[in-house]
Amino acid sequence: MAWVIYTFILAMGLSVGSFLNVVILRMPEGLSLVHPPSRCPGCGYRLRAWDNVPVLSWLLLRGRCRGCGQTISVQYPLVELAFGLMTLGLCWWQINRYGGDLAIAQVVYLLWPLLAVQVFLLGSLFASTAIDARHFMIPLSLCWLPFVVAVVVYPATAAGGWPYLGPYLPAGWAEPVMGAVMGLLVGMVLLMTGIIPASFADYEQVMRSLTGEEADTDVAGENALYPHPRREILKEVLFLMPAVVGLGVGWMLRSPVPMTGAMDAAVGVLGGALVGGGLIWVTRILGTLAFGKEAMGLGDVHLMVGVGAVLGWRDVTLAFFIAPFLGLLGTLLLAGLAVFHSARARVLPYGPYLSVASIVALLAGDVVTGWLGISAILAG
Ligand SMILES: [Zn+2]
Repeated sequence: MAWVIYTFILAMGLSVGSFLNVVILRMPEGLSLVHPPSRCPGCGYRLRAWDNVPVLSWLLLRGRCRGCGQTISVQYPLVELAFGLMTLGLCWWQINRYGGDLAIAQVVYLLWPLLAVQVFLLGSLFASTAIDARHFMIPLSLCWLPFVVAVVVYPATAAGGWPYLGPYLPAGWAEPVMGAVMGLLVGMVLLMTGIIPASFADYEQVMRSLTGEEADTDVAGENALYPHPRREILKEVLFLMPAVVGLGVGWMLRSPVPMTGAMDAAVGVLGGALVGGGLIWVTRILGTLAFGKEAMGLGDVHLMVGVGAVLGWRDVTLAFFIAPFLGLLGTLLLAGLAVFHSARARVLPYGPYLSVASIVALLAGDVVTGWLGISAILAG
């Protein structure tokens, strides 16, 4: 029975990986994900259903187009295989973590909300990492989709009687979180009506006006040439003020009665999103004020909103602290490779490190907080 279920999970992962190929290729170009159907860029041959079977089709066609024989990039089957195996690994890990002595079919039935939401996050992180590494940008819809899925699926299934295993907040934190969320909405309205100015509004214009020589000295992603980042970041502080006020008001109104069921789940998701986005945004503001150049992109803030919604406040905080270590490791590794190939070191954006750190925290959050000896404090 177990192998049937795991084969099914692998097949699902491979298929989602197939779709991620389309997302990675089309989303940065602003193209539709469903239309037009995939065609060979060489001869326009339209892929039939049997040409779209993950990995197998590529192997059977020996990596060549059925129409014109042009090579099909090995990236397609590799992305499918990578995501299929990651999905299988994640589900296997969670099924064994929560399963106990129950039959595997029953475990999967009880765990499906958790597995679905986490695989969804995995897919968004996979696609945004691939896009970020290549284009130095993260599509915002990829960051917000996991938030939307978590904020719908977790409360709905908790209300429907499934055991709730998603993020939660300690008692007394629901009101401050709700206050902060309302403050953010107020900030959005003030921003849209122009009462609060948008930050870095002249960014594109300034960077385009640089002479070629000046632009060459700028390393991609460093933004060191933008003239007044401190002034601009204060506009973001202004935007966040209503949320800070909302948090304070909520704190004064907090009640010691814990929430239950769907409300508990909804507040847990919102709290995680707020902590994830908030940690990066505060770092961005402090870093920009301290160093006089834009520190961390707003894309990273959005990324960690989605991660926080799925992982919850504890594990997203863990991911935030794991990421710099991965960043250091990655930078050393890339510098080493550059020496080896006698090329200039390529700077990677921070998003991929945050993504990998998030997956570590997702899988091993319990283990790491256990090592650190803080799980007892958190539980109390
Ligand atoms: Zn062709």
